[in-house]
Amino acid sequence: MVHRYDDIRQNKELWDLYTRKEEYSPQQLDRYGRFVYAHSTNRDILEPRVSKHLVDNGYEIEYPDGKQFAVCLTHDVDEIYPPLKHTLLSTLTCLKGLDISGFKQQAFWKLRGKEQSPYWNFQEIMDLEEKYGARSSFYFLATDADIRRFRYNIEDLEGELGRIVDREWEVGLHGGYYACNDLEEIAREKGRLEQVLGRKVTGYRNHYLRFQVPDSWEILEKAGFRYDTTLGYPDMVGFRNGMCHPFMPYNLRTETEVNILEIPLVIMDGTLFDSVRSYDEAWDVAKRLIDTVASCNGVLTLNWHTNNFNCPFRALWYAMYEKILGYCHKKNAWMDNAQIIMNGWNTNES
Ligand SMILES: [Zn+2]
Repeated sequence: MVHRYDDIRQNKELWDLYTRKEEYSPQQLDRYGRFVYAHSTNRDILEPRVSKHLVDNGYEIEYPDGKQFAVCLTHDVDEIYPPLKHTLLSTLTCLKGLDISGFKQQAFWKLRGKEQSPYWNFQEIMDLEEKYGARSSFYFLATDADIRRFRYNIEDLEGELGRIVDREWEVGLHGGYYACNDLEEIAREKGRLEQVLGRKVTGYRNHYLRFQVPDSWEILEKAGFRYDTTLGYPDMVGFRNGMCHPFMPYNLRTETEVNILEIPLVIMDGTLFDSVRSYDEAWDVAKRLIDTVASCNGVLTLNWHTNNFNCPFRALWYAMYEKILGYCHKKNAWMDNAQIIMNGWNTNES
Protein backbone atom coordinates (compact mmCIF):
# COMPACT_ATOMS: atom_id res chain seq x y z
CA MET A 1 0.00 0.00 0.00
CA VAL A 2 2.79 2.39 0.93
CA HIS A 3 4.27 2.29 -2.56
CA ARG A 4 0.99 3.59 -3.92
CA TYR A 5 1.00 6.64 -1.63
CA ASP A 6 4.57 7.34 -2.63
CA ASP A 7 3.53 7.32 -6.26
CA ILE A 8 0.85 9.96 -5.72
CA ARG A 9 2.72 11.98 -3.08
CA GLN A 10 5.40 12.96 -5.55
CA ASN A 11 2.81 15.04 -7.37
CA LYS A 12 1.50 17.68 -4.96
CA GLU A 13 -1.55 18.57 -7.00
CA LEU A 14 -2.66 14.95 -7.27
CA TRP A 15 -1.90 14.30 -3.60
CA ASP A 16 -4.07 17.25 -2.53
CA LEU A 17 -6.87 16.01 -4.77
CA TYR A 18 -6.56 12.42 -3.55
CA THR A 19 -6.56 13.34 0.15
CA ARG A 20 -9.30 15.99 -0.33
CA LYS A 21 -7.06 18.57 1.31
CA GLU A 22 -9.37 21.47 0.40
CA GLU A 23 -12.14 19.86 2.49
CA TYR A 24 -10.16 20.02 5.75
CA SER A 25 -10.93 23.69 6.31
CA PRO A 26 -13.74 24.53 3.91
CA GLN A 27 -14.48 28.19 3.18
CA GLN A 28 -18.17 27.42 2.77
CA LEU A 29 -20.71 24.62 3.06
CA ASP A 30 -24.15 24.28 1.49
CA ARG A 31 -27.41 24.49 3.50
CA TYR A 32 -27.10 20.84 4.46
CA GLY A 33 -23.60 21.39 5.82
CA ARG A 34 -21.93 19.72 2.86
CA PHE A 35 -18.80 20.50 0.90
CA VAL A 36 -20.14 20.36 -2.65
CA TYR A 37 -18.73 20.45 -6.16
CA ALA A 38 -19.59 24.16 -6.47
CA HIS A 39 -17.07 24.83 -3.68
CA SER A 40 -14.28 22.76 -5.18
CA THR A 41 -11.32 24.09 -7.11
CA ASN A 42 -11.14 20.87 -9.13
CA ARG A 43 -12.86 21.57 -12.47
CA ASP A 44 -11.78 18.27 -13.99
CA ILE A 45 -14.38 16.17 -12.17
CA LEU A 46 -15.14 13.82 -15.09
CA GLU A 47 -11.51 12.68 -15.26
CA PRO A 48 -10.22 10.20 -12.63
CA ARG A 49 -6.82 11.89 -12.66
CA VAL A 50 -5.33 10.07 -9.70
CA SER A 51 -6.42 6.64 -10.93
CA LYS A 52 -5.07 7.41 -14.39
CA HIS A 53 -1.74 8.37 -12.90
CA LEU A 54 -1.59 5.11 -10.95
CA VAL A 55 -2.51 3.00 -13.99
CA ASP A 56 0.07 4.84 -16.11
CA ASN A 57 2.62 3.93 -13.45
CA GLY A 58 1.90 0.23 -13.47
CA TYR A 59 -0.96 -0.12 -10.96
CA GLU A 60 -2.73 -3.33 -11.99
CA ILE A 61 -6.11 -4.71 -10.96
CA GLU A 62 -7.44 -8.17 -11.62
CA TYR A 63 -11.13 -8.93 -11.66
CA PRO A 64 -12.80 -12.35 -11.62
CA ASP A 65 -13.04 -14.18 -14.95
CA GLY A 66 -10.66 -11.74 -16.59
CA LYS A 67 -13.22 -8.93 -16.59
CA GLN A 68 -11.95 -5.48 -17.50
CA PHE A 69 -13.77 -3.37 -14.91
CA ALA A 70 -16.37 -3.52 -12.16
CA VAL A 71 -19.75 -1.92 -11.58
CA CYS A 72 -20.81 -1.56 -7.96
CA LEU A 73 -24.60 -1.34 -7.77
CA THR A 74 -26.16 0.36 -4.76
CA HIS A 75 -29.52 1.73 -3.65
CA ASP A 76 -30.28 4.18 -0.87
CA VAL A 77 -33.67 3.40 0.66
CA ASP A 78 -35.02 6.86 1.53
CA GLU A 79 -38.71 6.02 1.21
CA ILE A 80 -40.78 2.90 1.67
CA TYR A 81 -44.15 4.66 1.51
CA PRO A 82 -44.65 7.37 -1.11
CA PRO A 83 -45.15 10.84 0.37
CA LEU A 84 -48.33 12.62 -0.75
CA LYS A 85 -46.52 14.62 -3.44
CA HIS A 86 -45.22 11.43 -5.05
CA THR A 87 -48.69 9.86 -4.98
CA LEU A 88 -50.19 12.91 -6.69
CA LEU A 89 -47.50 13.05 -9.40
CA SER A 90 -47.61 9.30 -9.99
CA THR A 91 -51.41 9.02 -10.21
CA LEU A 92 -51.52 12.00 -12.59
CA THR A 93 -48.86 10.42 -14.78
CA CYS A 94 -50.79 7.13 -14.86
CA LEU A 95 -54.04 8.91 -15.76
CA LYS A 96 -52.35 10.82 -18.59
CA GLY A 97 -50.96 7.56 -19.94
CA LEU A 98 -54.33 5.78 -19.50
CA ASP A 99 -52.57 3.26 -17.25
CA ILE A 100 -55.52 2.22 -15.07
CA SER A 101 -53.85 -0.63 -13.18
CA GLY A 102 -50.85 1.61 -12.43
CA PHE A 103 -53.24 4.28 -11.22
CA LYS A 104 -54.97 1.82 -8.89
CA GLN A 105 -51.69 0.63 -7.42
CA GLN A 106 -50.39 4.15 -6.82
CA ALA A 107 -53.70 5.45 -5.41
CA PHE A 108 -55.06 2.51 -3.42
CA TRP A 109 -52.13 0.33 -2.31
CA LYS A 110 -52.79 1.13 1.37
CA LEU A 111 -56.06 -0.77 1.30
CA ARG A 112 -54.09 -3.99 0.71
CA GLY A 113 -51.41 -3.50 3.36
CA LYS A 114 -47.99 -1.92 3.82
CA GLU A 115 -46.14 -4.45 1.72
CA GLN A 116 -48.17 -3.38 -1.32
CA SER A 117 -46.54 0.05 -1.30
CA PRO A 118 -45.14 0.90 -4.77
CA TYR A 119 -41.77 1.51 -3.11
CA TRP A 120 -41.72 -1.87 -1.35
CA ASN A 121 -40.07 -3.12 -4.49
CA PHE A 122 -36.89 -4.98 -3.51
CA GLN A 123 -37.77 -8.26 -5.17
CA GLU A 124 -38.54 -6.50 -8.48
CA ILE A 125 -35.23 -4.62 -8.36
CA MET A 126 -33.32 -7.84 -7.62
CA ASP A 127 -35.16 -9.63 -10.46
CA LEU A 128 -34.12 -6.88 -12.86
CA GLU A 129 -30.48 -7.07 -11.78
CA GLU A 130 -30.45 -10.84 -11.90
CA LYS A 131 -31.36 -10.66 -15.60
CA TYR A 132 -28.00 -8.96 -16.14
CA GLY A 133 -26.04 -11.32 -13.89
CA ALA A 134 -25.73 -8.57 -11.26
CA ARG A 135 -26.36 -8.07 -7.54
CA SER A 136 -26.58 -4.90 -5.48
CA SER A 137 -26.47 -3.32 -2.02
CA PHE A 138 -29.45 -1.73 -0.28
CA TYR A 139 -28.73 0.89 2.40
CA PHE A 140 -31.53 1.23 4.95
CA LEU A 141 -32.24 4.06 7.37
CA ALA A 142 -32.47 3.00 11.01
CA THR A 143 -33.36 6.23 12.77
CA ASP A 144 -36.50 8.23 13.57
CA ALA A 145 -34.67 11.56 13.19
CA ASP A 146 -34.63 13.23 9.78
CA ILE A 147 -34.34 16.77 8.51
CA ARG A 148 -37.45 16.51 6.33
CA ARG A 149 -39.93 14.05 7.89
CA PHE A 150 -40.19 10.66 9.51
CA ARG A 151 -39.32 8.04 6.86
CA TYR A 152 -40.05 4.47 8.00
CA ASN A 153 -39.58 1.98 10.80
CA ILE A 154 -36.86 -0.47 9.89
CA GLU A 155 -38.64 -3.01 12.11
CA ASP A 156 -41.50 -3.14 9.55
CA LEU A 157 -39.02 -4.64 7.08
CA GLU A 158 -37.68 -7.54 9.10
CA GLY A 159 -38.99 -10.25 6.76
CA GLU A 160 -37.89 -8.32 3.69
CA LEU A 161 -34.31 -7.85 4.93
CA GLY A 162 -34.10 -11.62 5.42
CA ARG A 163 -35.30 -12.22 1.86
CA ILE A 164 -32.70 -9.78 0.53
CA VAL A 165 -29.72 -11.44 2.23
CA ASP A 166 -31.09 -14.92 1.42
CA ARG A 167 -30.67 -13.99 -2.25
CA GLU A 168 -27.12 -12.79 -1.44
CA TRP A 169 -27.82 -9.13 -2.09
CA GLU A 170 -26.40 -6.87 0.61
CA VAL A 171 -28.08 -4.94 3.41
CA GLY A 172 -26.04 -1.97 4.66
CA LEU A 173 -26.71 1.10 6.78
CA HIS A 174 -27.93 4.38 5.29
CA GLY A 175 -26.69 6.59 8.12
CA GLY A 176 -29.22 9.23 9.14
CA TYR A 177 -28.98 12.93 8.39
CA TYR A 178 -27.50 13.65 11.83
CA ALA A 179 -25.15 10.64 11.93
CA CYS A 180 -22.18 11.60 9.75
CA ASN A 181 -20.11 13.21 12.53
CA ASP A 182 -21.55 11.45 15.57
CA LEU A 183 -20.03 8.12 16.61
CA GLU A 184 -22.70 7.36 19.24
CA GLU A 185 -25.50 8.01 16.79
CA ILE A 186 -23.92 5.84 14.08
CA ALA A 187 -23.32 3.04 16.56
CA ARG A 188 -26.96 3.25 17.70
CA GLU A 189 -28.27 3.09 14.13
CA LYS A 190 -25.93 0.23 13.26
CA GLY A 191 -27.09 -1.72 16.31
CA ARG A 192 -30.74 -1.16 15.47
CA LEU A 193 -30.31 -2.40 11.90
CA GLU A 194 -28.27 -5.41 13.05
CA GLN A 195 -30.96 -6.26 15.60
CA VAL A 196 -33.58 -6.43 12.84
CA LEU A 197 -31.29 -8.16 10.33
CA GLY A 198 -29.87 -10.68 12.80
CA ARG A 199 -26.31 -10.29 11.53
CA LYS A 200 -23.45 -7.80 11.32
CA VAL A 201 -23.55 -4.87 8.92
CA THR A 202 -20.29 -3.79 7.26
CA GLY A 203 -21.30 -1.26 4.59
CA TYR A 204 -22.29 2.40 4.89
CA ARG A 205 -23.51 5.44 3.02
CA ASN A 206 -24.76 8.62 4.71
CA HIS A 207 -28.15 10.15 3.88
CA TYR A 208 -27.87 13.33 1.73
CA LEU A 209 -24.24 12.27 1.12
CA ARG A 210 -23.35 14.22 4.26
CA PHE A 211 -19.69 13.57 5.00
CA GLN A 212 -16.78 15.29 6.72
CA VAL A 213 -13.27 14.58 5.56
CA PRO A 214 -11.50 12.98 7.40
CA ASP A 215 -13.67 12.67 10.55
CA SER A 216 -16.46 10.57 9.03
CA TRP A 217 -13.93 7.93 7.92
CA GLU A 218 -12.44 7.80 11.42
CA ILE A 219 -15.87 7.48 13.03
CA LEU A 220 -16.96 4.75 10.64
CA GLU A 221 -13.83 2.76 11.35
CA LYS A 222 -14.44 3.07 15.11
CA ALA A 223 -18.08 2.01 14.67
CA GLY A 224 -16.88 -1.22 13.02
CA PHE A 225 -17.71 -0.59 9.37
CA ARG A 226 -15.44 -2.08 6.74
CA TYR A 227 -16.33 0.17 3.85
CA ASP A 228 -18.03 3.46 3.03
CA THR A 229 -19.46 4.60 -0.27
CA THR A 230 -20.53 8.17 0.47
CA LEU A 231 -17.67 9.97 -1.29
CA GLY A 232 -19.30 11.53 -4.33
CA TYR A 233 -20.80 15.00 -4.78
CA PRO A 234 -24.54 15.58 -4.45
CA ASP A 235 -24.36 18.31 -7.12
CA MET A 236 -22.15 16.66 -9.73
CA VAL A 237 -21.36 13.18 -11.02
CA GLY A 238 -17.74 12.10 -11.42
CA PHE A 239 -14.66 11.51 -9.33
CA ARG A 240 -14.58 13.60 -6.14
CA ASN A 241 -10.99 12.72 -5.26
CA GLY A 242 -9.81 11.74 -8.73
CA MET A 243 -10.13 8.03 -7.96
CA CYS A 244 -12.19 5.42 -9.78
CA HIS A 245 -10.73 2.63 -7.63
CA PRO A 246 -11.57 1.79 -4.03
CA PHE A 247 -8.89 3.04 -1.65
CA MET A 248 -7.89 3.28 2.01
CA PRO A 249 -8.29 6.98 2.94
CA TYR A 250 -5.34 8.92 4.25
CA ASN A 251 -5.82 11.26 7.22
CA LEU A 252 -3.66 14.36 6.76
CA ARG A 253 -4.07 15.37 10.41
CA THR A 254 -2.72 12.16 11.89
CA GLU A 255 -0.58 11.28 8.85
CA THR A 256 -1.96 7.75 8.89
CA GLU A 257 -4.17 5.57 6.79
CA VAL A 258 -7.72 5.00 8.03
CA ASN A 259 -8.67 1.35 8.19
CA ILE A 260 -11.80 1.47 6.07
CA LEU A 261 -12.22 0.98 2.34
CA GLU A 262 -13.73 3.92 0.48
CA ILE A 263 -15.61 2.83 -2.63
CA PRO A 264 -16.17 6.25 -4.21
CA LEU A 265 -19.60 7.04 -5.61
CA VAL A 266 -19.56 8.05 -9.28
CA ILE A 267 -23.17 8.40 -10.50
CA MET A 268 -26.24 9.12 -8.39
CA ASP A 269 -29.61 9.15 -10.15
CA GLY A 270 -30.86 12.62 -9.16
CA THR A 271 -27.44 14.20 -9.60
CA LEU A 272 -27.17 12.86 -13.14
CA PHE A 273 -30.60 14.08 -14.21
CA ASP A 274 -30.26 17.45 -12.46
CA SER A 275 -27.07 18.25 -14.33
CA VAL A 276 -28.50 17.85 -17.85
CA ARG A 277 -31.51 18.91 -19.89
CA SER A 278 -32.60 15.64 -21.47
CA TYR A 279 -32.51 11.87 -21.24
CA ASP A 280 -30.15 11.68 -24.21
CA GLU A 281 -27.74 14.10 -22.60
CA ALA A 282 -27.87 12.11 -19.35
CA TRP A 283 -26.99 8.99 -21.30
CA ASP A 284 -24.05 10.72 -23.00
CA VAL A 285 -22.62 11.64 -19.59
CA ALA A 286 -23.24 8.19 -18.12
CA LYS A 287 -21.67 6.46 -21.13
CA ARG A 288 -18.62 8.71 -20.98
CA LEU A 289 -18.14 7.84 -17.28
CA ILE A 290 -18.58 4.11 -17.89
CA ASP A 291 -16.09 4.13 -20.77
CA THR A 292 -13.62 6.15 -18.69
CA VAL A 293 -13.81 3.75 -15.73
CA ALA A 294 -13.50 0.76 -18.06
CA SER A 295 -10.35 2.20 -19.65
CA CYS A 296 -8.78 2.55 -16.15
CA ASN A 297 -9.86 -0.94 -15.03
CA GLY A 298 -11.78 0.86 -12.30
CA VAL A 299 -14.98 0.47 -10.32
CA LEU A 300 -18.07 2.44 -11.36
CA THR A 301 -20.32 2.93 -8.35
CA LEU A 302 -23.97 3.79 -8.99
CA ASN A 303 -26.61 4.92 -6.51
CA TRP A 304 -30.19 4.52 -7.73
CA HIS A 305 -32.74 5.23 -4.97
CA THR A 306 -35.32 2.45 -4.59
CA ASN A 307 -38.14 5.01 -4.73
CA ASN A 308 -37.22 5.74 -8.34
CA PHE A 309 -38.26 2.25 -9.35
CA ASN A 310 -42.03 1.85 -9.75
CA CYS A 311 -42.34 5.62 -9.83
CA PRO A 312 -44.38 6.58 -12.93
CA PHE A 313 -43.33 10.23 -12.97
CA ARG A 314 -39.68 9.13 -13.04
CA ALA A 315 -40.04 6.27 -15.51
CA LEU A 316 -37.04 7.61 -17.41
CA TRP A 317 -34.82 7.17 -14.35
CA TYR A 318 -35.70 3.49 -14.28
CA ALA A 319 -35.08 3.28 -18.02
CA MET A 320 -31.64 4.83 -17.56
CA TYR A 321 -30.73 2.31 -14.88
CA GLU A 322 -31.65 -0.58 -17.14
CA LYS A 323 -29.81 1.00 -20.07
CA ILE A 324 -26.65 1.30 -17.94
CA LEU A 325 -26.97 -2.34 -16.80
CA GLY A 326 -27.41 -3.48 -20.40
CA TYR A 327 -24.45 -1.46 -21.67
CA CYS A 328 -22.12 -2.59 -18.86
CA HIS A 329 -23.23 -6.19 -19.31
CA LYS A 330 -22.35 -5.94 -22.99
CA LYS A 331 -18.96 -4.48 -22.09
CA ASN A 332 -18.41 -7.56 -19.91
CA ALA A 333 -18.26 -5.73 -16.58
CA TRP A 334 -18.13 -7.50 -13.23
CA MET A 335 -21.39 -6.25 -11.67
CA ASP A 336 -21.92 -6.95 -8.02
CA ASN A 337 -22.78 -5.51 -4.63
CA ALA A 338 -20.35 -3.38 -2.64
CA GLN A 339 -19.61 -6.02 -0.01
CA ILE A 340 -18.54 -8.59 -2.59
CA ILE A 341 -16.46 -5.99 -4.41
CA MET A 342 -14.80 -5.03 -1.12
CA ASN A 343 -13.92 -8.67 -0.41
CA GLY A 344 -12.52 -9.06 -3.91
CA TRP A 345 -10.59 -5.83 -3.51
CA ASN A 346 -8.94 -6.89 -0.29
CA THR A 347 -7.80 -10.13 -1.92
CA ASN A 348 -6.50 -8.16 -4.88
CA GLU A 349 -4.53 -5.77 -2.68
CA SER A 350 -2.94 -8.53 -0.64
ZN1 LIG B 1 -30.81 9.16 1.59
